[in-house]
Amino acid sequence: VPLILTQFLDRAVRLYGEKTAVIDDNKKITYYELNERVNQLSHGLKQLGVEKGDRVAYLAPNTLEMLEGFYGIFQLGAIMVPLNIRLKPEDYLYILNHSESKLLFVDEELYHLIEPIKGDLQTVEKIIVQNGKGSEEDLFYDEWLSQFSKEPFARAEIDEHDVCSLLYTSGTTGKPKGVMLTHRNNYLHALSVMHHLRVSDEDIYLHILPMFHVNGWGAPFYYTANGATHICLRKAKPELIFEKIKNHNVTVMHMAPTVLNTLLQYHDQHQNDVSTNVRVVIAGSAPPPAFVKRVENELGWEFIQVYGMTESSPLSLISTIRPQLKNLPIEEQHRFKAKAGFPMIGCDVKVVKENGEEVKPNGKEIGEVITRSNGVMKGYWKNEEATMSTIQNGWLHTGDMATVDEYGHIDIVDRKKDIIISGGENISSIEVEGVLYEHPAVQEAAVIAIPHEKWGETPHAFVVIKEGETVTEEELIAFSRQHLAHFKAPTSISFVDELPKTASGKIQKVQLRKHFWGERE
Ligand code: ATP
Ligand code: MG
Repeated sequence: VPLILTQFLDRAVRLYGEKTAVIDDNKKITYYELNERVNQLSHGLKQLGVEKGDRVAYLAPNTLEMLEGFYGIFQLGAIMVPLNIRLKPEDYLYILNHSESKLLFVDEELYHLIEPIKGDLQTVEKIIVQNGKGSEEDLFYDEWLSQFSKEPFARAEIDEHDVCSLLYTSGTTGKPKGVMLTHRNNYLHALSVMHHLRVSDEDIYLHILPMFHVNGWGAPFYYTANGATHICLRKAKPELIFEKIKNHNVTVMHMAPTVLNTLLQYHDQHQNDVSTNVRVVIAGSAPPPAFVKRVENELGWEFIQVYGMTESSPLSLISTIRPQLKNLPIEEQHRFKAKAGFPMIGCDVKVVKENGEEVKPNGKEIGEVITRSNGVMKGYWKNEEATMSTIQNGWLHTGDMATVDEYGHIDIVDRKKDIIISGGENISSIEVEGVLYEHPAVQEAAVIAIPHEKWGETPHAFVVIKEGETVTEEELIAFSRQHLAHFKAPTSISFVDELPKTASGKIQKVQLRKHFWGERE
């Protein structure tokens, strides 16, 4: 059988048809109903002339409509292009034209971002507006959808190696690149995630990570295939998250550590009841060990760290504790949980030095993470050169640096571009941030390299202070020096009200670097 994503919805309908599939504020539908709406959507797309291989773009927060978009598009063998909701009109213009998208679905609350560029769209033939009306020439989703049959759609012939999504990378380090993922990529990645996260029909999944970002993008596959319930969330605000957890008995969530941090803060201030059904919370992007401890102790949720990137569907590492370490005191275990861990099923991961040799498993030697897996992309859309330099001999070169400890845990040190080289020594910005987060007054921290006459580069920290707390630059530097080798401690600190972030919650160091380095990447 070719591995096609529509099989996941088919399974849910066959086994769990009467079960609640999606709750989006006051909308609530079963898997039967979801399937009918998906069919209507596919019939509608066909009528608008969408054919196999065409690109259909989506600009929406986590909504029912976006979720049905996945399967509605896949039935035609078309390609979904989810758009990051926090970009600027000119970025949408770039992506829509670059992807040559034929249709654009947009949520009413984001319509104003598209309005200024409508005249410059080269390939978009129609705009379909959800949850409100756009202008005269647009289609209004609910009204439009209701004309079409709920009967099964005659699906396109699809090969598992056909592309199903064009996901633009976060743009943390530069211009977003269009990543082509196939049905097979997403399918096998989903199987692996289902296993590692023990996904079941008892799960109630809260969509905190945006579906347009690769980390949230997979949820419609693994949670649907197992008949779990999807709870939509428009904004990752702590009060709203806690409310949804309570009201819907949420069992599982994935989120960026920055969002997890806001939950911890909120919990601190409100001491709200945490007797919830949440069984596990999953986060990427190197959460400081202090977080892991607090999530497990204060919120009572199991914590799992994952590592991945858009180019590999995305996940390839998961923090698993080796059985032999389970006898260690809990504090020690948290230290291991804060590492990205071991390759997931279906993934092969190595940490290699420039000469291609694997680093020694001593927790010290640093190398680049390279991965080979079922999830590795077909390539970058219309960028053969970048594809060839990123995938070499079947191995994806991630641009992330790591160490391997004596037990085999892989620990992400930093992005190659973010490592600070001071007097010839490598400093991991992530490690320095981890120490700053331990200080009680620090809410958020980001560390970058700044130019230094003698050492070449030196660490500089941007810090957001917690409400009601105070701390001086000298105090924070002294604190860092207590917990780090002196050369790793920040030599200067800027206090800021907030840090620039991508829509998925990542801190954009490239923006911070501009203050010191100009436009250099
Ligand atoms: P762009 O490629 O456009 O600059 P991006 O790399 O942030 O953006 P994504 O594909 O969303 O786009 O993110 C993947 C990156 O996130 C990884 O390459 C890595 O740097 C970081 N990351 C993911 N998981 C972890 C983790 N567990 N620990 C540390 N870093 C992580
Ligand atoms: Mg990247």
